[in-house]
Amino acid sequence: MAPSRQPATQRAADRRTTGRALQERRLRIWSRDPHCAGCGRLVAMHEFELDHIVALINGGTDTDDNCQVLCVVEPEACHRRKTQADLGRSR
Ligand SMILES: [Zn+2]
Repeated sequence: MAPSRQPATQRAADRRTTGRALQERRLRIWSRDPHCAGCGRLVAMHEFELDHIVALINGGTDTDDNCQVLCVVEPEACHRRKTQADLGRSR
């Protein structure tokens, strides 16, 4: 019998996850799919940042489902480009 797990309640979806929780989320998302969502290449743990698929400033939620792996290493550096696009769209 598998123990039933309660889904984590999201009391503070408008607050950005920081610190150890963020590190754990990084590992969790990366383990799920270690490929950059932008260019599709396989990235190592130190070669990506978590990106909010819908940026928080654009109304996205700070949840695993809204997070993806984006590389930060050149030449693609998808996370930097995505961030710039997110900022541009919010204007
Ligand atoms: Zn990439």
